[in-house]
Amino acid sequence: MFAIYTYGNTVLRKKAEEISKDYKDLDSLIENMYNTMYSSEGVGLAAPQIGKSIRLFIVDGSPMSDDDESLKDFKKVFINPQIIEESGDFWTVEEGCLSVPGIREEVKRKSKIRIQYFDQNFNYFDEVYDGLKARIIQHEYDHLEGILFIDKINPLRKKMIRSKLNNILKGKVDVKYKVKFAIK
Ligand code: ZN
Repeated sequence: MFAIYTYGNTVLRKKAEEISKDYKDLDSLIENMYNTMYSSEGVGLAAPQIGKSIRLFIVDGSPMSDDDESLKDFKKVFINPQIIEESGDFWTVEEGCLSVPGIREEVKRKSKIRIQYFDQNFNYFDEVYDGLKARIIQHEYDHLEGILFIDKINPLRKKMIRSKLNNILKGKVDVKYKVKFAIK
């Protein structure tokens, strides 16, 4: 199991690098990421969140299948993804992030995406997603670009959560899963 890197760790702010087919121990890395995600009750986890600046994220939307039945079997690995188009109407969804514990805020994003990526076996896909699937992908994809959901909330809300963010920086927050705070 990996520790989750929390807000303030520089790896979360870097643009992640693509990987090749022969990236060392990829299968065990992915398996370990799934274990980490399940034990922290996330629906997505991007490699930078475990301290690795590579273009890889995993999702499993099944815990949210009460909100959207089709999330039940939405379990996927995205490698070297590129979102090539975002379309549809903007909509607002409350998001949270394992790297920003204790904070949930409404985030506005477009409802539909087209994404090109490789799966765990380096099969290539070009797919369109909408609704909550698109939302989960957009959130995880942002991690590969060094972006966090709190960058996308309205400035007033950002001001209001400033002290909470400072507490995360200092490690003064209760987290049920293993984390690596920026300041020890
Ligand atoms: Zn996140």
